[in-house]
Amino acid sequence: LADHIQPVRGMNDVLPTQIGLWQHLETTARQVFAAYGYEEIRLPLVEHTDLFKRAIGEFTDVVEKEMYTFTDQGGDSLTLRPEATAGIVRSMISNGLLRGARHKLWLTGPMFRHERPQKGRYRQFHQIDVEAIGFAGPDVDAELIALTARLWRTLGISRVKLQLNSLGTPESRRAYRELLVSYFRSHEDRLDADSRRRLDGNPLRILDSKNPEMKAIVAGAPLLTEHLDPESRDHFNVLCATLDGIGIPYEINPRLVRGLDYYSRTVFEWITDALGSQDAVCSGGRYDGLISQLGGEATPAVGFAMGIERVVELLSQAQVAPQTLKPDVYIVVSGSTAASGALMIAEHLRDTLTHRRFDVGVGGGNFKAQFRRADRSGAVLALIFGDDELARGVVSLKPLRQDSGQTECAVTELATRVESLLVELQPNGAAV
Ligand code: ATP
Ligand code: MG
Repeated sequence: LADHIQPVRGMNDVLPTQIGLWQHLETTARQVFAAYGYEEIRLPLVEHTDLFKRAIGEFTDVVEKEMYTFTDQGGDSLTLRPEATAGIVRSMISNGLLRGARHKLWLTGPMFRHERPQKGRYRQFHQIDVEAIGFAGPDVDAELIALTARLWRTLGISRVKLQLNSLGTPESRRAYRELLVSYFRSHEDRLDADSRRRLDGNPLRILDSKNPEMKAIVAGAPLLTEHLDPESRDHFNVLCATLDGIGIPYEINPRLVRGLDYYSRTVFEWITDALGSQDAVCSGGRYDGLISQLGGEATPAVGFAMGIERVVELLSQAQVAPQTLKPDVYIVVSGSTAASGALMIAEHLRDTLTHRRFDVGVGGGNFKAQFRRADRSGAVLALIFGDDELARGVVSLKPLRQDSGQTECAVTELATRVESLLVELQPNGAAV
């Protein structure tokens, strides 16, 4: 292929053959968010580069090497959003929405990171992001986690496990960080290049190393959970007790740190063993310091983001929802005058059977070709509408997925007949 029609590396088309699962996830998520009182927010894909530098942190992978940054015609340095939280916080501040108010928000859309593309890791990927702003927790932390657990249940996803940790406050983390640095320094010869680089800028990230050769040395490192300040410890204990009360299982992972710098206290991650090495499907935590750090009034907040591509892959493996949207009924049109009549009838059927999907053989083609299309469409019922039927005021009905024969029905009774036939042909309900 010529260069100009190559897709950009790591950026994918989501084709109609895959869209069913995306829509199923989006629809379900919308319902669950509404059930918890979260409202949607939509923001620009582009923000000032400095926003991400300040929010995410200079020494994070995202800011150091993954951002799509460019200078626009006016000379401003802009960046395609690599994550959603920074933009949401920016919006709360720039719209003057803080002032002690509380906001429960969600956002979905594409994010951009220049990473090495592989299965489950892309350069344009999609997230569903949820944020509770103005809540100190730990009750809201627990509620947010309950929301994610409900989403998995509603979607029929079971191969996910919850991991929890607390990062304490910036002060307790600073003290712990010194312990950690001196531990790693005393084993510096055994650190890989990445970890050695992180030793100065972001030593906690070493705990998160994916290099198997680092496992042993990481396992011996002092634990943050053993160096928490008393308030953070209480916060964490109440969160755990609340989750116990609701009945949400979790595992405490004292080495769970997150890739973005703004987290404090609660962090959590839903991981799966079904996706190979890209095992995080939903990650989040508390960021009590971020808003004031960006210039807003000090406001506690907690949130998470889930990777849509990874959740869609789980849905596809679980086979709980159809991959594509199929019509229920395909209308075969034969003859020149029949076409406009068929469209009229289809409009009438759509008015009456609002929950059904109709695909009309617009564009014509001979009878055989249209039947082939009807078959391929996945519909369970074909309606045949030709000049002959038109003249007699009838439509022929032919089930497509079983061998029962063709019947006729008066146009005036068509909607009722179609519905009762569909109920018969789709005993498990309409195609989703
Ligand atoms: P990972 O450890 O997989 O790199 P992360 O710590 O960078 O994830 P976050 O920045 O917290 O992840 O993003 C939240 C979620 O977004 C992740 O749990 C994952 O499901 C998804 N995600 C992150 N980066 C990508 C990517 N490049 N492609 C696809 N999904 C991604
Ligand atoms: Mg990452």
